Amino acid sequence: MKEKTVLITGASRGIGAECARTFAKHGYNVAFCYNRSNKQADQLNEELTKLGATVYYQKADVSNKSELEAFIDSVILKFKKIDVLINNAGVALQKLFIDCNEEDYNYIFNTNFKSMVVATKAVLNNMLKFKEGKIINISSIWGLVGGSCEVLYSASKSACIGFTKALSKEYGRMNISVNAIAPGFIQTDINNNISSEDIHAFKENTSLNKLGTPSDVAELALFLANSSYITGQVIGVDGGIN
Ligand code: NAP
Repeated sequence: MKEKTVLITGASRGIGAECARTFAKHGYNVAFCYNRSNKQADQLNEELTKLGATVYYQKADVSNKSELEAFIDSVILKFKKIDVLINNAGVALQKLFIDCNEEDYNYIFNTNFKSMVVATKAVLNNMLKFKEGKIINISSIWGLVGGSCEVLYSASKSACIGFTKALSKEYGRMNISVNAIAPGFIQTDINNNISSEDIHAFKENTSLNKLGTPSDVAELALFLANSSYITGQVIGVDGGIN
């Protein structure tokens, strides 16, 4: 078993899975949860194990407080110390705000934001015990600038930014850093129902004139995990949105 452990929420696919690969390649034990994608989670476990990582993974719906807490308890039982928490699990919803109901609100906020609060609280006790830790929250460009037809999603990602900044101030003196990553358009399943016209328009709107990849985000997460003097920041990985 390696010395350092990363815990990633929602890592069966996309950005979370790429973070798992990147951290495994850099000598971390990897703990991750997922919700539906059993097959992908099993495949990722095999992949990470081949990379030499000790892996612990479990199906746990992050929007369900007791499931998420039970998962984190079992991770702590296995690895004893969590060095890095990546609050990544998230879902999107493209809908006019006027058509959104309470169920939509609960779906988006419980998955994208309440999960962050619950996971952070559970992991923080462990980090406080060892007087060190890095928390990396995955926000979104929409949390910074707001996205039409994604009002609830944007609001949940703005909440993540406020949470990150305030938490960094409260726990900095205990040697715990808290930062957020705000990705632009990253090519993953979450964007499967975005039209090719909208994808093209998004790409045209970036200075680099290209879309991002999960590894663009994962490399920054690793950089933040290795950093010693960065906290309370929201760092864009968006190709330069104009
Ligand atoms: P993705 O490819 O759809 O992957 C989402 C991951 O989250 C999956 O592993 C999924 O697991 C997991 N997940 C979803 N709901 C869950 C739940 N209730 N409990 C546990 N796990 C859950 O999306 P992604 O692009 O990698 O997104 C990752 C994060 O980046 C999200 O927070 C998203 O908002 C943020 N982000 C993405 C983009 C982008 O353009 N891709 C841009 C900005 C921000 P299952 O498949 O098992 O359900």
